[in-house]
Order: sequence, then structure tokens, then C-alpha cells
Amino acid sequence: MSFVLADLVVGGGEGDIAMPPLGLRISRCDGCERLEFPSIPTCPACGSETDLDTASTGVLGGFTSVLHAPPGVLVEIPYDIGVVLIRDKLCILGLLVTDSPLAIGDEVEVTPYRLGDGHLTFAFRASRQDVGP
Ligand SMILES: [Zn+2]
Repeated sequence: MSFVLADLVVGGGEGDIAMPPLGLRISRCDGCERLEFPSIPTCPACGSETDLDTASTGVLGGFTSVLHAPPGVLVEIPYDIGVVLIRDKLCILGLLVTDSPLAIGDEVEVTPYRLGDGHLTFAFRASRQDVGP
């Protein structure tokens, strides 16, 4: 399963108040504050309606390298995948794309990623504030 453009909010980034930040379209329940990705209109826990929100960053909770291609994979091996914790409430499994080593607990941000078949999906990379000399 891949998440294509409908679930990826491609915005103007920092300083552009006319565009939302780049991130994943999630839903947030007004009743119990549960988060869901992909977004859904009704909370599965309490039945309340949800609001759309954008998740741009999270914390890396774990990761591994994929060394052998699973059937139908659209990413060239080897590649890394990680579990990212969003706002201490939601875990999202995603591709990791980064030039610098990542560690558990690092802040990561959503970035667009072009799959081998041309579709656009999301990946996580080290947050810009974590990258530096
Ligand atoms: Zn709820």
C-alpha cells in the first residue's frame, strides 16, 4: 500500500502563510483527541466527527534496513523504514531518506518521495534543525 498525493499536503513551507506546511493529512477527533492516518471523517474510538490536520514532524521510534526486495516493491533496495511517533499519539510506518545517520529519538520531518512507477508518496528525513555541522 502506498499513500499518494491525496494524503500528502504539499505546501509552501516556512514563511509562506498562504500555503499549509508540507505534511501528512491526518484527522484529529474533537471528542477524544485520537489521531488517524490516513484521515477519516468519523473517530473509530468514540464516533465523533474529526477535523483535518497536517502532521509535518514526528519522533523516530525505531527503524530497520530492508536488504531483500519484497514482491512488488517500488523502492530500490537497500532502503530504510522507520516508525515515527506523531504528537505522542499516532505511529506511522514510512520510508526514511536521509544522508545523515538517524537515531531513535531524533526529530524527523515529512518529505515527498517519487516512487519507481512515478507516483508521489511520502518519506521521513532528519528535521532541518537536526542537520548541521
Ligand atoms: Zn474520538
